[in-house]
Amino acid sequence: MYKSRAETITALLGNVPKFRFDQINTALFDTSVSSWQDVTTLPLAMRTTLSDDVPWMSIALVEMFESKLEDTYKAVLKTADDKNFESVLMANRKGQWTICVSSQIGCAMKCTFCATGTMGLKRSMHSDEIMDQYRFWREFLQTKPELPQRISNIVFMGMGEPMANYDNVKQAIHMWLKYTDLGPTKIMVSTVGVLTQMEKLLTDPDWPPVRITISLHSANQERREEIVPTTVPDFIKKLAVWSHRYQELLGNRRHHLTFEYTLISHINDTPALARELASYIVKTAVTKVNVIPYNPVFGKTFTRTERVRIDAFKQILRDHDINVTERKTMGDDIAAACGQLALSSS
Ligand code: SAH
Repeated sequence: MYKSRAETITALLGNVPKFRFDQINTALFDTSVSSWQDVTTLPLAMRTTLSDDVPWMSIALVEMFESKLEDTYKAVLKTADDKNFESVLMANRKGQWTICVSSQIGCAMKCTFCATGTMGLKRSMHSDEIMDQYRFWREFLQTKPELPQRISNIVFMGMGEPMANYDNVKQAIHMWLKYTDLGPTKIMVSTVGVLTQMEKLLTDPDWPPVRITISLHSANQERREEIVPTTVPDFIKKLAVWSHRYQELLGNRRHHLTFEYTLISHINDTPALARELASYIVKTAVTKVNVIPYNPVFGKTFTRTERVRIDAFKQILRDHDINVTERKTMGDDIAAACGQLALSSS
């Protein structure tokens, strides 16, 4: 059982006043500080105790992969209990970086086309391990001063299902919101659609106003059940109802919902399914679809939809006045693209 940084500190130092934790958290995100000894806001004795017994970072690098275009980096990281997972740094359109974080080691959702699903769920990650992925990439960028330094966005599109690790995901988000310059609209939680947890966030006063995207992949209930086996009965209908409740309770112009739609050749990319998606969207509070051309996964027979079919699919949605974007494929040479994150060991 992972003991959090805060629990370890409390166990060592007894009742630590709140302002000390604030100093500690500020230091953890301060790029000019790289060890407990540098945290000059703390008394020397405290720094020494922390240096001896509390790891500065809850995760450590195992191996780094760099794409040929030098616009994507994939880190294989490990936790204190030696579990490997992956985290990705990608250049974005603003000339800054987006990090793609993992929320679980593996995943229990078993989406048929996804690499992570094949490894099953090892365990959920602690909020320290989630939030430290940002700290890890900030530190990494400091070792590359020739690169832009700013991480402007965080997406929960690495390993795992964030809604299946609700509390730790929420906690990590709160830490980023408090101790980094990132605002809530720069953080995106991507979910397969765990309706029980999605219901919970609607009435959770502590749920941060981050963006949410739902991995739909098909607006046809039967087809979705085939490719996303965790699809509950009547999911498509229930999701539409949920989206309206979200819009009513939490939505505003900056907090719109989006759908993600991975285009897999001849599985969910037909004109008929595009039309079904278009007529479904008008029944929801969702106005935007982000299509993701499928990234081939070793050992799976699925293939990417051909360019002409991708364009035709997008055009049908546009003809219905739906806002469509397409995810640029990055890092496919280092298997860092969406859904390619899987590890053979641990
Ligand atoms: N569990 C979350 C995060 C998954 S990764 C979720 O389901 O949303 C982010 C997105 O990549 C999801 O939409 C996921 O379905 C998609 N994805 C998974 N494997 C993929 C692949 N091989 N190619 C393209 N997209 C993929």
